[in-house]
Amino acid sequence: MSDFYGNPSSIHSIGRKVRAFLDDSRERVADVWRCKASEVVFTSGATESINLAICGTARFLKSKGRHIITSAVEHHAVLHSVEYLVNNEGFEKTILPVDVDGRIDPLDLENAIQDNTILVSIMAANNETGTIQPIAELGAVCHRLKVCFHTDAVQWFGKEPFDNIHQFNADLVSICGHKFYGPKGSGALFIRSPLLLDPILFGGSHENERRAGTENIVAIAGFVLAIERFISTPVFDRSLLSPLTSRLASFCSLSGVNLVCPSASRLANTCSFTVPGIDSITLLAALDLNGICVSAGSACSAGSLNASHVLTALGMTKKEANSLVRISVGRETTGEEIDLFLTRFPVILDQIRNNE
Ligand code: PLP
Repeated sequence: MSDFYGNPSSIHSIGRKVRAFLDDSRERVADVWRCKASEVVFTSGATESINLAICGTARFLKSKGRHIITSAVEHHAVLHSVEYLVNNEGFEKTILPVDVDGRIDPLDLENAIQDNTILVSIMAANNETGTIQPIAELGAVCHRLKVCFHTDAVQWFGKEPFDNIHQFNADLVSICGHKFYGPKGSGALFIRSPLLLDPILFGGSHENERRAGTENIVAIAGFVLAIERFISTPVFDRSLLSPLTSRLASFCSLSGVNLVCPSASRLANTCSFTVPGIDSITLLAALDLNGICVSAGSACSAGSLNASHVLTALGMTKKEANSLVRISVGRETTGEEIDLFLTRFPVILDQIRNNE
């Protein structure tokens, strides 16, 4: 903020210095992703990347068809974008079901694709259950049938081994910085060339006319550092985190709580379970008072009393879905902290049950 404070669109020397920094930042992301710099669009985070990918592509391709496919377990940034297009702009949707572990069957996708399908959007990994989708396989179906494929890879980056952006077989990939220790409010969208889309923000010709608005250089700087440091060698190290989440998972089988998606191939940092008969808000508050910060459904819908749409898609009742506890561990999480949880949790459960 003290050295690169100019506006990259200004033509004076202070602005040109920041323009060079911005160009270099884009090249650095492209180096890690192994794509062209022109395929990287900086955004304000995942929600914007996803809205641009879905609304922008659907509107650009609407003369070819109006059918969009997504899944029942997507983040609301995806589901609400699709819903908006359906309710207001004459698009149609198919929502793919998932199995008990939250996985989408590539055959279901293949059967759902019609002549007028223009876009498929499936997430790479789920934020509430950690379930990893067979994303390259799903992308291959789309490529074979010549349908544009977007993946919300927000939860996946920094947790699974990354080689290059083409490994998803996707035309569009949404990503945000704060899921792998970058700044909040930073993100990017990969747009495979020569794919074009309509902008969703109007104004200047920033980001190659794909995202109007003066670039958030501070967020971009942090985002690029996080991409360089934490992606190719995932910062959420499976060999360190799996033993922690495995201890949580084995505890579930002993204590009458139900592990969510027990057989799924899951992100190493996520462990979710439901607690029969107890509302997750009550549990979260009690855990918080004990110094343990965990989540219910997605943090984004915290405060909303709606049952998690992800868990109901897995076949759970609303009551079961309302008893979700999601524990995410990170690079700072220690075995002692897991011990603390395992000791205190049964006591807290007893206290809540005795008070009811
Ligand atoms: N997609 C997934 C899978 C997420 O987990 C989130 C947020 O947690 C988002 C999209 C939206 O991200 P943001 O709120 O950073 O825009």
